[in-house]
Amino acid sequence: MRTYLCRKENKLSAVLCNCCKKELLVENGILKEECITFSHDFGYFSDRDGESQEFDLCEECYAKITAGFGIPAETRQRMELL
Ligand SMILES: [Zn+2]
Repeated sequence: MRTYLCRKENKLSAVLCNCCKKELLVENGILKEECITFSHDFGYFSDRDGESQEFDLCEECYAKITAGFGIPAETRQRMELL
């Protein structure tokens, strides 16, 4: 969950993990800690058609949730780290 100092300039005031409520490190409006953001627009074949949801997870919660997957998340190593 994100709160902004200035939404237009994308300047953050705080980022909380939606799962454990941990406050992630934000300095000068910039997120300085790993945060996994999910954003989804539900479509026509969903009971939530027309609804959009977004949430943030800290790296620990992401690891716990994906560890419960029946099929592991597809992982690839990026060669270019920008
Ligand atoms: Zn968390």
